[in-house]
Amino acid sequence: MPAIAQRSATKLVNPTRNDLLILAAEQLERNPDLMYRPLYNVEGTDDGMLRTQITTGTVLEPIVGAILPYREVSNTVGSLMSALDLTKGDVHQVACYCHHGAGGAKAAIVAQRLRAIAAK
Ligand SMILES: [Zn+2]
Repeated sequence: MPAIAQRSATKLVNPTRNDLLILAAEQLERNPDLMYRPLYNVEGTDDGMLRTQITTGTVLEPIVGAILPYREVSNTVGSLMSALDLTKGDVHQVACYCHHGAGGAKAAIVAQRLRAIAAK
């Protein structure tokens, strides 16, 4: 296994995009049963509109929080996409309600999706 983000209080030095995806996954896994509000209809949302959507109060908020010490990022979907080099398809996998169900997005599942993006 490469020397990627380990679960510790130590601040990462020059973390890569994949380090940050895994860091966010690890933070989500600390409370694996937490439920977050998914985004709605990512696939049907125009790219420009998607990028202006606010992450606060959604499943993307903890991801923004995880990378905030390391990247310039604000509380818009587009900002997060730029900071982590995410495609619209990635955002769909991580955040769309159609991948999570009516009960919301479970932290452990979101973490799995982030790890999958880091691994591809
Ligand atoms: Zn969807």
